[in-house]
Amino acid sequence: METIPYDKRSGKIWFNGELVDWTNAKVHVLSHGLHYASCVFEGVRVYDGEIFKLEEHTSRLFYSAKRMGIKMPFNEKKINDVCKEVVKIQKVQNGYVRPIVWRGSEMMAISAQKNKVHVAIASWEWGSYFDPNLKLKGIKLNISSWRRPHPNSVPWDTKAAGLYMICTLSKHEAETKGYTDSLMLDHEGNIAESTGANIFFKDKSGSLHTPIPDSFLDGITRRCVIDIAKSKGIKIIERKIKTEEMKDFVGCFLTGTAAEVTPVSQIGKFEFKVCNTIKDLSDSYQNLVRKKVAA
Ligand code: PMP
Repeated sequence: METIPYDKRSGKIWFNGELVDWTNAKVHVLSHGLHYASCVFEGVRVYDGEIFKLEEHTSRLFYSAKRMGIKMPFNEKKINDVCKEVVKIQKVQNGYVRPIVWRGSEMMAISAQKNKVHVAIASWEWGSYFDPNLKLKGIKLNISSWRRPHPNSVPWDTKAAGLYMICTLSKHEAETKGYTDSLMLDHEGNIAESTGANIFFKDKSGSLHTPIPDSFLDGITRRCVIDIAKSKGIKIIERKIKTEEMKDFVGCFLTGTAAEVTPVSQIGKFEFKVCNTIKDLSDSYQNLVRKKVAA
């Protein structure tokens, strides 16, 4: 099935305070956000017409902007209200919301002290991030030759657009080699995350191990899945994990707003089973997002 390019779709996008026609939500080529990645964004899911964890995502958007020195021209409540309005206008039932904030065109070198801050919010119907069949069997990850940068080098705990350069490089490298996605290591060679999701491993005793988020995003889904696992009596161990330790783990999965809970069957030469614990966590997450259990 051919997908319509994202700039050629129909409906409305909220753009700096007003709703504009989808195809008119345009940015000038001389924008600081485009040239120097002064841009932050969020990725939020809609389930059964309701936005999941909207307030958490909006507050992370404001945190990301602050870390980048970008002054938000709207408050959090306004952004939350607009997200809901856009979902309604677009009649999105199961999809995505993308708020994005970037610096405009007033200055076009490194300094951007005087640049206007622009905000747009778009929403569209959207299914599974990974192929649903692959999701059942578990996806295969490459081990990226690109590493997460040292936490002193970047605002690592944000969704700043510039950080995704490494993710796209890693994802393309993986796809070229026939993998679905990629595992990225941190600057010290510890396991960090995939290109758009956090990672968990299951050991032989049933405990879950996940890297300490000290150089990458502490995902909203990650925290949610940790709570679900704890409520099921599963032990969670947050620690530094080395690549060679993967030979001793029996299961692996990713967590993310887009990825949800996605089992992993292979990372480089290491293989994992899609076990019942992971299927159960994935089902529980689906029940939570669809409000079939108490949050
Ligand atoms: N790491 C990266 C690089 C991501 O892009 C995402 C998706 N936002 C995550 C982790 C998971 O974060 P969340 O669960 O908040 O979506």
